[in-house]
Amino acid sequence: MNNLKLTGRKPGDLGSVIDVCGVRVGEEFVVIAGPCSVESEEQTLRTAVAVKAAGAKMLRGGAFKPRTSPYAFQGLGLKGLKILDKAKRETGLPIVTEVVDTRDVSWVGEYADLLQIGARNMQNFSLLREAGKSGKPILLKRGMYSTLEEWLNCAEYILAEGNASVILCERGIRTFETFTRNTLDLSMIPAVHAESHLPIMVDPSHGTGIKYMIEPMSLAAIAAGADGLEIEVHIDPPSALSDKDQQLRPEEFAAMMRRLDDLRDFMGERLEAEAEAIRKGDAISTPAPRSDMASSAAAKDVATQTDTDVNASAHADATRSIASRDPFADAMD
Ligand code: PEP
Ligand code: MN
Repeated sequence: MNNLKLTGRKPGDLGSVIDVCGVRVGEEFVVIAGPCSVESEEQTLRTAVAVKAAGAKMLRGGAFKPRTSPYAFQGLGLKGLKILDKAKRETGLPIVTEVVDTRDVSWVGEYADLLQIGARNMQNFSLLREAGKSGKPILLKRGMYSTLEEWLNCAEYILAEGNASVILCERGIRTFETFTRNTLDLSMIPAVHAESHLPIMVDPSHGTGIKYMIEPMSLAAIAAGADGLEIEVHIDPPSALSDKDQQLRPEEFAAMMRRLDDLRDFMGERLEAEAEAIRKGDAISTPAPRSDMASSAAAKDVATQTDTDVNASAHADATRSIASRDPFADAMD
């Protein structure tokens, strides 16, 4: 792809790490969880406490909801942001919330630690520019009719304003398939890693719209090298004011998180074995996972880090990209 002056990945580029209040997306595996919409203080606080206990590193919740119908619940606005602020003070979780209007970017940014630009606004260029000027970390969701090139160009708008803190989020696209709410395009994970240095998260909640698909699609996203997940969780999904069919109960979320950890442990063990082989100078017998970021980083680090550090970084890299091939490997062969 031409023209991706700032978001494009050049040979030798390592993946960018986006720091959100000390949570380092691209370095550690990050799950953002919380309700689709902030509905009340009790609903948000109870959800926040539960998702934190289950291992989520950020809290999501919409105060401004882009809804299909103008008569549907539009979000609590400022009141919702204040509730999120209280949840942050009680749990310490950074806040992820959507901004839908250019005029709101600066003041919503006072409550949000990670400002979300939703699928419907992906190509709202004035909103992108404003988000860029705000300097806040931005979670840029893929538009439901957008190609990878269009999506990365939207990220480019933000970076062109001097804001390098962009995380991409695949959330499914419209296809002829109507069984699922959207078609979750997991092929974008290795594609983004090949074309860009920006981290990519996956939202299987909007990506499928179906509760029982959230865990398998989350596992698949991890296996494909996603840097994190965004998951909708509600204390009582049937009573939710938006997206009730795709929100997990806290206990379902906690059970899923345990299974995600099992997969990441399995993948981390493979990568640690590879780092060990590099330390010993042995040839690698299994296919290399993302040799630029995992193996060479591990090899380089051997000289300066303790074993624990090497294992920690190998583990982080494993969750990030074990299944991604180095897109430049062929060129270097
Ligand atoms: C959301 O995450 O609240 C949302 C509306 O998602 P999307 O923009 O992907 O539809
Ligand atoms: Mn939702």
